[in-house]
Amino acid sequence: MEKRDYYEVLEISKGAQDADIKKAYRKLAKKYHPDANPDNKAAEAKFKEVTEAYEVLSDEQKRAAYDRYGHSAFDQSGGAGGFGGFDADFDMNDIFGSVFGDIFGGGGRRRQSGPRPGADIRQTIQVTFEEAAFGCEKDIAVNASETCGTCHGNKAKPGTSPVSCSKCGGAGQIRVTQRTILGAMQSVQTCDACHGEGKIVKEPCSNCHGQGKIRVQKKVTVSIPAGIDHGQTLRVSGKGEVGDIGAPPGDLLITISIKPHQVLERRGNDVYMRMPVSFAQAALGAELSIPTLDGNVKFAIQPGTQTSTTFRLQGKGIPSIRNKKYRGDQYVEVYIVVPKNLTEKQKSILKEFEAETGDQTEESKKGWQNLFKKK
Ligand SMILES: [Zn+2]
Ligand SMILES: [Zn+2]
Repeated sequence: MEKRDYYEVLEISKGAQDADIKKAYRKLAKKYHPDANPDNKAAEAKFKEVTEAYEVLSDEQKRAAYDRYGHSAFDQSGGAGGFGGFDADFDMNDIFGSVFGDIFGGGGRRRQSGPRPGADIRQTIQVTFEEAAFGCEKDIAVNASETCGTCHGNKAKPGTSPVSCSKCGGAGQIRVTQRTILGAMQSVQTCDACHGEGKIVKEPCSNCHGQGKIRVQKKVTVSIPAGIDHGQTLRVSGKGEVGDIGAPPGDLLITISIKPHQVLERRGNDVYMRMPVSFAQAALGAELSIPTLDGNVKFAIQPGTQTSTTFRLQGKGIPSIRNKKYRGDQYVEVYIVVPKNLTEKQKSILKEFEAETGDQTEESKKGWQNLFKKK
């Protein structure tokens, strides 16, 4: 169905002032409100249409976008765009309530009835580099609610039981008829006698003070999979706050924080490190002992190895969290440690060495004399 022009819907002119828009909406919303037209689908559709039109035209920014682009201003699929769309699921009751005030006792908003599920609990745990790489089990302390063992969650003192609420007949909700500007209206409200629970506890359980739950510190064993990375979150199902009787508990959400390693640095599934070698080792070649997640590994560097030379130890990285058999690699970047605080003897050996080899940097600087030649 073609969307009607918002001004047309509200039966106002393009230049209408804010007060006129509000007045027009009041008139039409009153006429089409579902409570004034029970089981009338056409009226309900009209009510939605006028509310949507009012939602846009009563907002300065949205109205300007609408005046410029028409309905396509709010078209999520693109179109003339320029406005980025707005939430199509706006709350009619909020808009209606903001214009009419709370005439329906709760604005028509209905409290969700029935037992409520438990909330999730969020916690962060620290693990070492190795624990994250290979996985581990951790016992953690979680402060959570638990069903009261004395009343088993029904909130009543043992030997007594909750009685059905006489005001709502156990339904938790009551229908009220109110005289409003729209005439007599029926609306559903949460029962104030039992707060929507349908039951009343005459003698509360002393252990939980009638809450049905108590707070405890629980020990939860968490299995941390190999390959987990910093900032990732694990969901432990059912270890959150306890729910009402008949509703499921929440989950425990654990965010992983990895302690930095002294030598190794993680980049995805690969591991990086910088390996110091002496000038003599680099010049002569040497067998190095390189720390890896699997312990020290021997690796021979060639004579004449330069600083920043990087070599790869295949399969010495972090296992993939999806497939343990796949592991990343370890990259080792060599850097040469230049000796400091030389003794006289060491200096004289090095001078002799330099005289013997000549300036070894000459080869690398070939052609530099022409770099900044004057024109
Ligand atoms: Zn209790
Ligand atoms: Zn009640």
